[in-house]
Amino acid sequence: MHGEVTCHKARLIMQAPGRWRSGGFVAVSQGRIVEVGDLGKKPPCSKMVDHGSGILMPALVNAHTHLTLSALHERLETSKGFLAWVESLIRNSSELSPQEALRSTREAARTLRETGTGLVGEFGPFFPVEEHLAFMGLEGVVWQEFLGEERDLVAPSQTFGGLVSSLAGHAPHTTSPKLLKKIKTLCLKWDLPFSLHLAESQEEVEFLQSGQGKWARFLESRQFSFRDWDCFGLSPVKLAQRLGLLDPKTLLVHLIHVSPKEVELLAQSGVGVCVCPRSNWKLHRALPRLMEFLKAGLKPALGTDSLASVDSLSLFEEMQFTARNYPDLKPREILQMATANGARALWRQDLGLLEKGRSARMIYVELDAADPWRAEERLVIEPPALVKPVGW
Ligand SMILES: [Zn+2]
Repeated sequence: MHGEVTCHKARLIMQAPGRWRSGGFVAVSQGRIVEVGDLGKKPPCSKMVDHGSGILMPALVNAHTHLTLSALHERLETSKGFLAWVESLIRNSSELSPQEALRSTREAARTLRETGTGLVGEFGPFFPVEEHLAFMGLEGVVWQEFLGEERDLVAPSQTFGGLVSSLAGHAPHTTSPKLLKKIKTLCLKWDLPFSLHLAESQEEVEFLQSGQGKWARFLESRQFSFRDWDCFGLSPVKLAQRLGLLDPKTLLVHLIHVSPKEVELLAQSGVGVCVCPRSNWKLHRALPRLMEFLKAGLKPALGTDSLASVDSLSLFEEMQFTARNYPDLKPREILQMATANGARALWRQDLGLLEKGRSARMIYVELDAADPWRAEERLVIEPPALVKPVGW
């Protein structure tokens, strides 16, 4: 009926956080899960693969990265505030050779795979990365981000394997409101996902509020004209609302400076959200209000951001940092962020959960835990020694 069916088993199977099987199997045919069941019943397989005494679970989702910045790892100024970091980013990017940037991007895509990320939200400003991601078996969305003034835009090629190419605004303090509105309108017209960094820095908040401050002076020093931008006097979230950016086909990234009322507004709009706690802490010494997000009904995804602001692209390490810095978050909620919430944020409802009919994009994690509760805790507090892609 399904052609060749391969069954995968491990001591524990996490179909979703909070939904575990001991002594079970996942039957896969042509990249799809055809059954998840108990070994007691005869599995419908032509081949059985026993992965071992660890955990079989959905592949992780890194909902926000910039792989093309990977060559900047440990080259930038991260201890003197956001503006100093941006300045060193601009300076160092211009000195990178294309070969170096390409090599490090490929290496970064390999690292994603090796650390269990099967779906990625990539912001790629420098060069097309789709083929390098596809070579590593990665799927997801590749956004080309835009800064500056309004311009003509063309529809990106729709797909590359399991990758959708789309357009994004960089941020409201670097991309003119007219251009942001235009990109979002075109994304809606072309049925593509839109994304934007929002409410990340104090500099951004101050700039939007007054058109003054450190960021305004920085833009002026670079002869960047913004005086006619119709965006001043608003918070980042209120501006995004006014520009019509808040809907379920938008993914907002960071959201550190958001008031409790704005958290409610975001939740009501159905907009997708992604947080990058390690990057936020390193660049801003600040973190988003995750507990409030969850309480309001938002379903935050997790991203690492780039190697220009974090030490690794491992989502296990991102979960570990999140667990340490949000002691009230349950391990289950953190795992949810890194799996099903991430899949939802990247419009891939077929991923992030192991059940019949979904895509068989799994990982096997070598981790010895007595029971599912202990396993959930250990998955988020200690990055495992071995992670292996299964089914992709
Ligand atoms: Zn980013």
